[in-house]
Amino acid sequence: LANRLQNVFGKLRSKGKLTEEDVGEALREVRLALLEADVNFKVVKDFIAKVKEQAIGQEVLKSFTPGMVVIDIVNKELTALMGGTQSKLARSNRPPTVIMMAGLQGAGKTTTSGKLAKMLMKQNHRPLLVACDIYRPAAIKQLEVLGEQLKVPVFSLGDKVNPVEIAKAGLQHAKDNGNDYVIIDTAGRLHIDENLMDELKKVREATSPDEILLVVDAMTGQDAVNVAESFHQQLELSGVVLTKLDGDTRGGAALSVKAVTGCPIKFVASGEKMDALEPFYPDRMASRILGMGDMLSLIEKAQAGIDMDKAKEMERKMRNAEFTFEDFIEQMEQVKKMGPLDQILDMLPGANKIKGMKDMKVDEKQMARVEAIVKSMTTEEKRKPELLNANRRKRIAAGSGNTVQEVNRFIKQFDDMRKMMKQFSGMMGPKGAKGMKK
Ligand code: GDP
Ligand code: MG
Repeated sequence: LANRLQNVFGKLRSKGKLTEEDVGEALREVRLALLEADVNFKVVKDFIAKVKEQAIGQEVLKSFTPGMVVIDIVNKELTALMGGTQSKLARSNRPPTVIMMAGLQGAGKTTTSGKLAKMLMKQNHRPLLVACDIYRPAAIKQLEVLGEQLKVPVFSLGDKVNPVEIAKAGLQHAKDNGNDYVIIDTAGRLHIDENLMDELKKVREATSPDEILLVVDAMTGQDAVNVAESFHQQLELSGVVLTKLDGDTRGGAALSVKAVTGCPIKFVASGEKMDALEPFYPDRMASRILGMGDMLSLIEKAQAGIDMDKAKEMERKMRNAEFTFEDFIEQMEQVKKMGPLDQILDMLPGANKIKGMKDMKVDEKQMARVEAIVKSMTTEEKRKPELLNANRRKRIAAGSGNTVQEVNRFIKQFDDMRKMMKQFSGMMGPKGAKGMKK
């Protein structure tokens, strides 16, 4: 999805003036890309209509950078589509806060319960896990093992007691022991059926949860959205957790869940490890879809051609925005070994933005110029980009045979890239780290 959209927007950006037809054509492609990514048909239709209405306006077409304005509209609407702002986990002012997990079998309820407990522990809370899945063989054991690993208490009454009773007793246990969060791990079925819903409703009645989180598997695409809709009708969910985003998903579920069900996505999980859970930020997801490039593929590609330690160090630096001009040059040397520049830059976060600027076309000549600029910096300047004041820039311009404006432009772009890298990797979190361990 991201790649297709970036292509469309690359074209838009590079145009100085836009006609209604240009916008229409771009939006047709956006529509196709969304449909291909398995975004709900009706959601796509409404989305395109909204964007079109704003984008065709005369002000936009007459503006100085119409392409950018259109992209900005798409970005805002995508963010709105996914709920606008981040939805936080509920917190009861009369503890314990009760979180009930729901979802089909294998969606990741038990795993997510553990991850949530870990997250809460980190915030100095005292969660209690309650084992209410008495059907799936070894389900209780699975939760107990997680609890032991995380040092979170697990409440269970074995598999002979009714889940409703277990939930009630678990809640009481939390009150008696000062646990401020109770996470109820429930059973799932392969399909939605009445027994499952009845049981969940009874558990809900018995515990009055502050939060009912539906766990859905992002890899199931459109089905995940349908499941969310059914569960929401029956249970009035307060939020959705999207799991397995590390897998081969086209991302459509993330885009449709909120629009179809009205329920916000609160967390996304991208791995089996206990720290692979993150709050869901609609704005970051939108940026990622629109122009952040595929840093993981870049890193993978780098691994193929570059030594692992260097790649690992580079990834760490990007994550912490410690990326310096020295690193930049080193990357360029490595990149040259890796193949056609255009292709590599396509994968770098923010590279599209740089490419779109008409005076920063990515050709080898331009790269040589950039290289000359960096090579005219002192070692200290390369390591500390913030040192580059006006005088230093003048010197660098003279030394590299460029104008000061050109030097300024490059430094600005470098800064933007660093910022984007930081934003991007912050979002990727454990996923990025996982990619490194292969
Ligand atoms: P439940 O039946 O809903 O409780 O699902 P489980 O928590 O037992 O998870 C089912 C399987 O999915 C397990 O093998 C988990 O390790 C795996 N799983 C859960 N979340 C993720 C995720 O975000 N990414 C990946 N790759 N696997 C996950
Ligand atoms: Mg389970």
